[in-house]
Amino acid sequence: MSNFGELQSLANSITAVTSPFRNYLNDLYEKYRSLNEGAVADYIPELALAKPEWFGVCVVTTEGQVFEVGDCDQLFTIQSISKAFVFGLALEDHGRDYVNSKVSVEPTGEAFNSIVLDEVTNRPYNPMVNAGAIATADLIKGKNGTERLKRMLEMFKRYTGRDHDINVPVFLSEKATGYRNRAMAYLMLNFGMVSEKIDETLDLYFQQCSIMVNARDLAMLSATLANGGVNPVTKQRAIDERYVQDVISVMLTCGMYDASGEWCYRVGLPAKSGVGGGITAIAPGKVGIGTFSPPLDVKGNSVRGIKVCEDLSQDFGLHLFNVAKPERNLQEWIAGGDGINDW
Ligand code: GLN
Repeated sequence: MSNFGELQSLANSITAVTSPFRNYLNDLYEKYRSLNEGAVADYIPELALAKPEWFGVCVVTTEGQVFEVGDCDQLFTIQSISKAFVFGLALEDHGRDYVNSKVSVEPTGEAFNSIVLDEVTNRPYNPMVNAGAIATADLIKGKNGTERLKRMLEMFKRYTGRDHDINVPVFLSEKATGYRNRAMAYLMLNFGMVSEKIDETLDLYFQQCSIMVNARDLAMLSATLANGGVNPVTKQRAIDERYVQDVISVMLTCGMYDASGEWCYRVGLPAKSGVGGGITAIAPGKVGIGTFSPPLDVKGNSVRGIKVCEDLSQDFGLHLFNVAKPERNLQEWIAGGDGINDW
């Protein structure tokens, strides 16, 4: 069977009836559904249209089982989550040393849109803050903007198993109002950290932020990294395995903006969030988690998404540095029903 949709619906129909993990996720969804904290991003009108009650959680195992609850078909813009994956593509295009000469991998402790570069090398701090993401987008190869965007969209397809569109109104709005990002880009141009095709690159950056995904796609993205760079459902390789650890480690240290330290301490899973309300989190070798809920905390991370990841990490001992016996064993909870692993 090669069709992704068929595989996915088969996986869902099996998991829907057989696995206790399914019930666990339903309970988790109910537990946080009524949590009404945070505010939907409104720096452009298109994002402010998101409904605060939208809420979806999807978990994909490295065996390719898909569990989901809530609004997992609802599309939204990937925003900053794209940064981690585009970093992977830049590494494939140029290798580690060259990419690192243009973008550092040091957490900033500053907001995602801060205008700060390393004082000695003039490099942006890391690929997860806007400056670093723009410098990373600059590295994506292609003879023009269209080809570079096409390469990005093909990459996302390798991870998620399906085609992605750009939300054009979001792109145009980001482009029209992105003065701060433009200022950062030109500051980096001044220091020779980005090439002179910077206007094309800014468009590319605004486009990558405007790619539409759903919570299931986010789980597929992280499940693919958790699975060594191979999509666990389609079995297609999405990224050279040499660079999987680069992407994951930068997600761990820098993925949740200036909340990355607290996130690492409390959740302990490499992750990336976006102002569209998504979070993608990786339990290496085990699962990918995708959450979607638009209300954000002051640091720009989804309030319900954080809670869901905290609970999953705690309840199943997924924290990277957990050495205690977890309250629940993930494999057992997932495989608890009949036939779950048979397909
Ligand atoms: N498009 C947004 C920006 O560049 C992305 C920010 C985000 O998700 N944090 O400001």
